[in-house]
Amino acid sequence: MKNLWSDQQAKKLAGDDLALRVYSSNLLGLEPKLVLHGGGNTSVKLAFQNIFGDSIDTLYVKGSGRDLRTINKSGFTPIAMKDALRLAAFDQLSDVDMVAQIRLAQLDTTSPDASIEALVHAVIPAKYVDHTHSNAILILTNSREGNKRLKSLFSDFLILPYMMPGFALAKQIQQAISSGMLVNKKGIILRNHGIFTFGDSAKESYERMIEAVNHGEAAAHSFRNTTEAENTPISPDLLKLAHIRKIVSQIEEAAVTVNLDQCDKAMRMSRRSDAADILSRGPLTPDHTILTKMTPVVLSENFEMDLENYKSNYLAYFDAHSDASHVCLKPAPKWAIWKNIGLLSFDRNQKQVKKISDIAFHTVDAIMTAEELGGWQPLNPQDLFDIEYWALEQRKLNNNSNLPELQGRIAIVTGAATGIGRQCAAQLIAQGVCVVGLDISDKVMEMNGPNYLGLICDVTDDSQVKNAVEQTVKIFGGLDILILNAGIFTAGEYVEDLDQSKWDKTLLINLTANQIFLKNTIPYLKYGFKSAVIFIGSRNVDAPGPGASAYSVSKAGLTQLARVLAMELAPDGIRVNVVHPDAVFDTELWTEELLERSAERYKMTVDEYKTRNLLSVEITSKNVAKMCVALSSNLFSVTTGAQIPMDGGNDRVI
Ligand code: ZN
Repeated sequence: MKNLWSDQQAKKLAGDDLALRVYSSNLLGLEPKLVLHGGGNTSVKLAFQNIFGDSIDTLYVKGSGRDLRTINKSGFTPIAMKDALRLAAFDQLSDVDMVAQIRLAQLDTTSPDASIEALVHAVIPAKYVDHTHSNAILILTNSREGNKRLKSLFSDFLILPYMMPGFALAKQIQQAISSGMLVNKKGIILRNHGIFTFGDSAKESYERMIEAVNHGEAAAHSFRNTTEAENTPISPDLLKLAHIRKIVSQIEEAAVTVNLDQCDKAMRMSRRSDAADILSRGPLTPDHTILTKMTPVVLSENFEMDLENYKSNYLAYFDAHSDASHVCLKPAPKWAIWKNIGLLSFDRNQKQVKKISDIAFHTVDAIMTAEELGGWQPLNPQDLFDIEYWALEQRKLNNNSNLPELQGRIAIVTGAATGIGRQCAAQLIAQGVCVVGLDISDKVMEMNGPNYLGLICDVTDDSQVKNAVEQTVKIFGGLDILILNAGIFTAGEYVEDLDQSKWDKTLLINLTANQIFLKNTIPYLKYGFKSAVIFIGSRNVDAPGPGASAYSVSKAGLTQLARVLAMELAPDGIRVNVVHPDAVFDTELWTEELLERSAERYKMTVDEYKTRNLLSVEITSKNVAKMCVALSSNLFSVTTGAQIPMDGGNDRVI
């Protein structure tokens, strides 16, 4: 591991101890083998000047949930040292009381809640304290051979048995310090948890961390003896992937999205015959259980039974370790090793899924190394349960229980570059849905982000459609919502004058393309979570006008297709409904010129023409998109085969 400290950089911050604290915290955060996604914590002890000009001895400690990679000065919470030390001097203190008391000792009401390790930082008698969950150190402490050799490898470190983080850990360290055990030590190794280093300067503490970790890495490496063969990934069976995701969502009682990792290490673990055994022992560091649960599931050909077993094992684990105060979490796995395929991660949003995937990757890597060091031997289930069901952590989880209903669903929207399609994508994303937008225009990629992927796709081309659908399933894990919106409008020509190619093209795009699409998506929708298909029809179906024969016929055909489909898919619980918009003028179909021409034909101004309906309202893409979101939701859970006008009221339709 590289020492990233730059004296030149640090010189610019000289004299500002908190800025130096931020600097070396960011350096630690840059290295995923030290800390992942909010793990680890750091502190500095300084004099704080209050409004009265009094100087108060203060601990600036990382705020809870802050990420070391990106933390800045405001992410550190100042706490009066006097109060922190008095709290640590109690014989006993519940963690809930500890958090409340630390909040009272905060010297800035706008700063975040302090890290739960604040008292640990307070009792260590050094200006700078750094704490990480270094992979190398954890590989050593979580393996039989490594653990045995720890003492001789780290004679300048105090090595302590595992203790629950929070007050108990602060107490353990304080007692070790008062009995003189920390004299001449550079840091502390906490078995099954991580490592602390400290020093008089930010540089000293940081460099001690890097030095210790490099020492650990070299030691772990020297014990290893196997060479690793390259693993070429094989394509997953996407229908099975969608099926796995459906079962996980059912156990979770909410839709999850998925990440598939087929990197070399994931592949290697997936090909081990002992994967189920070694993965059943526990996580890299207890902190990870909050995101990943204690263990993943190993999925074989018989994945339905594997998931059922995981569920019953989790419930048994809960029963064995819980008391009346605990509420059981949903017994769904957060990650899986899929035999011969790779590593899957599951959660309700992609951001969280990526975090879990990172942690799982490092866990897999560490376990395989530890297996060569005498065998992976992490913390015991009771200690892990205590962290997973820690009151403080359960409180964090409760904060994200109010997710939107559609969170975690996966949708495809056709014709998503502009107009109604683009609005549908935007409105679904706002509800937490992962969306793939398709269009022939590259504008479809403008919204690309963690929950949206725009793909250029000609919906009339079977192989392009197949490819787009497969990409959706591979990236997000399945398919639940389909919004069939792509269409063209050819107007102004009577049947006798209509160019044959215009007729053919309109029917191909507005009608046949949707049949091609459905053929490719129905197998996945059957493995979707509360699947719904929504067709964008037209007011023209019920109230046609002269000069738009191809358009009207294609939309009428499309409506009939939807009605048949509603009957065909009902046994699978898939709902199919049609929205008939009229006069939506903020779409690409309507140019300024076309609008003026149409208004003129009715002897109206453009504004009058736009609101030409019983309610005298303008209908926007957003109105239609919000209806599509509603039709995807439970609000319409007992509705299928329906046709909903979005036309401001039309006397010919009514
Ligand atoms: Zn920790």
